[in-house]
Amino acid sequence: MTDSPPPSDRPRTAKSLAFALFRPVLFAVGVIGLALGGLVLSHRSNPEIAALPPPANLPIPTPAAPPPPIVLADSEPAPPIAPSDFRAVSPNLGPNLGPNLGGDLRGFSMKPPDPSTGPNSEPEPPASDRYELTLRLEKGDTIDKMLADIDVPQADRKQIHERLAALLKKKKLAAGEEIELLLQNVPEQPDAPRVLSLSVRPQPEREYIITRRDDGTYDGEEKVYKVSPRIVRVEAERHGSLEQSGVRLGVPSQAMVEFIRAMSYDVDFQRELKEGMKFTVLLEQLVTSDGRVTHPGRLLAGELRLLKRTVVVMRYRPQGGADGFYNPNGESVVRAFLRTPMDASKISSRFGMREHPILGYSALHAGVDFAAPSGTPILAAGAGKVVMAGPNGGYGLYVKLQHTSDVGTAYAHMSRLGPGIKPGVAVRQGQVIGFVGSTGMSTGPHLHYEFHRGGRQVNPLAQKFAMRAQVGGKDAARFQGLAKHYLAQLKNAPVVASTKPKPKEPGTPQVAKGD
Ligand SMILES: [Zn+2]
Repeated sequence: MTDSPPPSDRPRTAKSLAFALFRPVLFAVGVIGLALGGLVLSHRSNPEIAALPPPANLPIPTPAAPPPPIVLADSEPAPPIAPSDFRAVSPNLGPNLGPNLGGDLRGFSMKPPDPSTGPNSEPEPPASDRYELTLRLEKGDTIDKMLADIDVPQADRKQIHERLAALLKKKKLAAGEEIELLLQNVPEQPDAPRVLSLSVRPQPEREYIITRRDDGTYDGEEKVYKVSPRIVRVEAERHGSLEQSGVRLGVPSQAMVEFIRAMSYDVDFQRELKEGMKFTVLLEQLVTSDGRVTHPGRLLAGELRLLKRTVVVMRYRPQGGADGFYNPNGESVVRAFLRTPMDASKISSRFGMREHPILGYSALHAGVDFAAPSGTPILAAGAGKVVMAGPNGGYGLYVKLQHTSDVGTAYAHMSRLGPGIKPGVAVRQGQVIGFVGSTGMSTGPHLHYEFHRGGRQVNPLAQKFAMRAQVGGKDAARFQGLAKHYLAQLKNAPVVASTKPKPKEPGTPQVAKGD
């Protein structure tokens, strides 16, 4: 089947006027069609009412002895197209069809007249006319039953069933699957339409077509569409949940979750993210050669425009590694070390020279103090190994972790150790290694946190940038090329959705074609 251009492309002629006049009639027929089981009627060659099969031809269930049915699986979902397909809703429905038929009628759609017939062609004689019909499989339905319902002769149904079964092998068609039919009314059997072709496309990349030969037998064919990736961009604004703000525009939820997670290492969502802030998501979709989306999109890159800065993350897979997200400088968004080794805390004393509160003289404060209630869990700032765990003089109950040969962290004044924490055990980032207390030389419950590099205490809060994993070695050049590409695509890739869609030609699909 070929797509007709949108109705706005066709000249407005007497025919479209006549069509407009028939609109209420079409609507009425549509309602009848709906009443008779959610039929989707479509008429390629002649939408005028004369060509529609008279109501008498509409389905009357016939108790025929059918060949063994093709069982339909309830559980198999239809291919994930719908909103994530990013197509404008029913691009075939142009303004000529009026609001009555504009997609509000579920299960009913009317295709525009085929322009190849020309605006001035005579109406075709209805009796031997060919017409298209789209039927949707209901739960527990079979194609054979569906064809019986529209009075297709049993001999034809049997052949069609056999051809289709041979093509589908063991595969089952899901309820809701659309079956496209090209039918013909033949004078010698006016109440039994002839099936010229039947097609079903259970996956975007696979279509099964049954066609009638001149000798009355049927042929089966499997059509495979080539699938290839394309990069698209979604421009969005945050309204309510950030995830939903993207999902509403067709970004897959999984891609939004990845985007938020990648941003969360760097962005304080509560303080920095406001209503109406803009973000851009770059997706890689998979599409068939005829434009159907088989995968709604994997996150390649994202940009979040905050009040004072713009944060960009991009997907990259280092050689021999796993996919991860990086900033444009090639630094992993995942911090090798937590910013603070506690969830809720405030800094009560910074690194540097100070008057010691107990000793009373000026000395280097070799760590950072975080004030927190006694018993607050203390988290391992990074993955590593416990090298000390126990009382340690003025430090009180103390834990030291070694992360690399060069880097260690230490935690003092704990009330007690975390479960299983003893010298020699490995810890993961974020694991509870102890609880806030006031043991040792301490004036009140707090965590004294130290960062050691090369055996010396350094300021933990100054380690921010050095603490990220960086794309390096052979990967550096490859990453830089990719980062440049993504940064350009975040501005230039075809937009598939936008909070403020640009004014477009009526009836023009919103999908930007081509890469
Ligand atoms: Zn301290």
